Amino acid sequence: MDGTHLKNKIGIVGGGITGLISAYFLSQEGYEVDLYEKKTLLSETSSKTTKLIHGGIRYLENLQFHEVKNGINDRKWWLENFPNQTKLQEIIILSKRKFSFEILKFFIGIKVYEAFAGRLNIKTGRLYKQKDLLSFGIKNNISAGISFFDGLMQESVGQEIIKRCKRNGVNFYENSEIKSIRPEGYVEEKQYKKIIIATGPWISAFLKQNKIESNKTIDYIKGIHLVINRVIKKGFMFRDQKKHRYIFAIPYQGNLLLGTTEQRVSTPEDKQILDSEVNYLLESINAYIDRPISKDEIIGSYAGVRPLIKSKAQDFHSSSRDFYIQKDQNLLSLFGGKWTTAPSIARNIVRIVNNES
Ligand SMILES: Cc1cc2nc3c(=O)[nH]c(=O)nc-3n(C[C@H](O)[C@H](O)[C@H](O)COP(=O)(O)OP(=O)(O)OC[C@H]3O[C@@H](n4cnc5c(N)ncnc54)[C@H](O)[C@@H]3O)c2cc1C
Repeated sequence: MDGTHLKNKIGIVGGGITGLISAYFLSQEGYEVDLYEKKTLLSETSSKTTKLIHGGIRYLENLQFHEVKNGINDRKWWLENFPNQTKLQEIIILSKRKFSFEILKFFIGIKVYEAFAGRLNIKTGRLYKQKDLLSFGIKNNISAGISFFDGLMQESVGQEIIKRCKRNGVNFYENSEIKSIRPEGYVEEKQYKKIIIATGPWISAFLKQNKIESNKTIDYIKGIHLVINRVIKKGFMFRDQKKHRYIFAIPYQGNLLLGTTEQRVSTPEDKQILDSEVNYLLESINAYIDRPISKDEIIGSYAGVRPLIKSKAQDFHSSSRDFYIQKDQNLLSLFGGKWTTAPSIARNIVRIVNNES
């Protein structure tokens, strides 16, 4: 192929949020982008989230400052660039005791979160008394709440990104499973200046299939969500019934979105929703609300597998949501990350591609 023509051509494998935002940023820079997706765009992990565009307040507990910083930067980017498809969401952290170590810890955590955001802070949270919480349908044994703000995405955000990519000339090939790539720059038999592998939880298997060694291993952590036929006025975050981890209840499209769980699975295909997971979510929320939710009120459910970078720690509840870019000649392979930080990943991709022009 003629070298001048090749200079501008980028091939992307994987049409989740990471592949799409990479396509968007690269096309903004004037690159000609072809994106190949096995199924349909955004149909896998990227459509199975809690819908939060967040800095990750709970990562502060594990001192994961780098993730929080990236998340806060990117949260601002989403809210500014997609004002009609994202919004601010207040989330109240519920506590059984008014003067407890937990509430103090969260008060400090929220202040650090807001201070970390600096001029990027979106809105300041507040304390809620028991009588305020009662009016939101919270049980009378919950004494206090403290709130913070994060972003919330609407379903339409995905379609808007696709629209903007198309406007920039990105070529989408859906229902196109790629079997072979070569680090010299080949997707099947088509040659590119650079190829980007954004296959989310399928990254390790995909590289292995192509005899490329992965620098990182993916930990497959399944998470489920339930859509409940209930209207809630605020978002809530609370400890699960084992006091082990946090669960969110978010007002979403006139219903309540409840999630999520963390269950290690052996393959990204394992997206079965178990009765035990449904019971876990319902029992956890029912410990905080005055009108318990029954299974009859569940009107939808979905599950996805997080592509987390495997850490040495056995406890994956605290493992990092950070991302990693592996380079092999003209091949860039993406590991980890979250929806919110897809712009950070894409900025790094653009920098690498530009520097190697
Ligand atoms: C339960 C849960 C809750 C979450 N909540 C949040 C949240 O609230 N906020 C947040 O920021 N993040 C959240 N995340 C994380 C976020 O969903 C993921 O980090 C993000 O969606 C990953 O996007 P991706 O593009 O890397 O992967 P994916 O969306 O999985 O996209 C990869 C794509 O590659 C395609 N593909 C695979 N193999 C091939 C092949 N051979 N050829 C062509 N195409 C191929 C797949 O079909 C898929 O569409 C959550 C994740 C889960 C599971």
